Amino acid sequence: MLIWNSGKPYMMSYYADLELSIKCYRYFAGWADKNHGKVIPLDGSYHCYTRHEPVGVCGQIIPWNFPLLMQAWKLGPALATGNCVVMKLAEQTPLSGLYVAQLTKEAGFPAGVVNVIPGFGPTAGGAIVRHPGIEKVAFTGSTEVGKIIQAEAAATLKRVTLELGGKSPNIILKDADIDKAVEMAHFGLFFNMGQCCCAGSRVMVDESIYDEFVEKSVERAKKRVVGDPFKGNTEQGPQIDEEQMQKILGYVGSGKAQGAQLLTGGNRHGDTGYFVEPTIFSDVTDDMKICQEEIFGPVLSIQKFSTVDEAIDRANKNSYGLAAAVQTRDIGQAIAVSNALRAGTVWINTYNVLGNQAPFGGYKMSGIGREGGEYGLENYTEVKTVITAIPQKNS
Ligand code: ADP
Repeated sequence: MLIWNSGKPYMMSYYADLELSIKCYRYFAGWADKNHGKVIPLDGSYHCYTRHEPVGVCGQIIPWNFPLLMQAWKLGPALATGNCVVMKLAEQTPLSGLYVAQLTKEAGFPAGVVNVIPGFGPTAGGAIVRHPGIEKVAFTGSTEVGKIIQAEAAATLKRVTLELGGKSPNIILKDADIDKAVEMAHFGLFFNMGQCCCAGSRVMVDESIYDEFVEKSVERAKKRVVGDPFKGNTEQGPQIDEEQMQKILGYVGSGKAQGAQLLTGGNRHGDTGYFVEPTIFSDVTDDMKICQEEIFGPVLSIQKFSTVDEAIDRANKNSYGLAAAVQTRDIGQAIAVSNALRAGTVWINTYNVLGNQAPFGGYKMSGIGREGGEYGLENYTEVKTVITAIPQKNS
């Protein structure tokens, strides 16, 4: 069903969407009886404690790139903290979400606790955002729509958490293990057809290893297996729809027009389905559109830098701040670079590693709030302070 839903290859559907979703529900189920308040000493003769109460009805709007997993990331913490949910699925991928809704009925959730609706963004999604009875909205999607949601939520002062777009830099220092760094850059960008908000779409390489890195990256991209998502060895399936494919091809045109070197790919793959060839541009400069905007497709941009300070500075000069990575054998340097990067997640010598226990979310225009782990749970509770006067002996 996941493959029908989104065209995602079998291996990715199984390990990234299905397996991680199961782990996510298990993880949050464990929190259901553990998220409790504190007893707080006050001046005077009082007993003070806090309660972590459910927010109430939570609106949740999810995207199409990980339909099952994004549903789990949102339902898990909301239900573990005792909330009711109205969730809108992405219009491109309604199947798996509706199936999960059916499973909640079978599992015996009381009627009205989990409400899942398919529908379009501005109508069904907008109705959730504007409804006065919904007290929180959690959204994952584009920065453009995130801004609309935050503005519309202001009318009812809903709590808003947003997980938005990115243009994540992956910095390859001169002492990196080149073959591993090439693989991490490849995986960091091409995973899920490039349809990841944290995709490492800006690979920045030290000038002393640049030529070798570029050559090996092109070799690797040419080996990528593109085709039928139902086949077990397929690495890359189609993009989600024609609109996204055309948008990606438009960015390829813009990269060429602005003077980046197209080294491989750049075209539609075949003439049926919405497949795009794994594409690599080198000589990408910071002012180019393909360096600044989120492409959400299999297009890797490689840039050159001379010093580590320059790389950090240029990596941070972007309106997004979702994720970043640094590849190096020098752990001191790795920590210094990761501290300096303005991003919600920084990977060192790896990419795309996420865990239910670890928070995920963005700096700057990549969002507000964190999902995952204990940090994520905080968004789904209101904290109530209860203060009781303790009678004194002679009063
Ligand atoms: P993408 O560009 O990845 O499709 P979007 O941000 O357009 O991302 O969509 C993500 C989710 O937001 C989808 O479920 C979509 O239907 C919903 N959405 C789109 N526009 C609005 C809107 N104006 N209000 C609420 N939800 C919206």
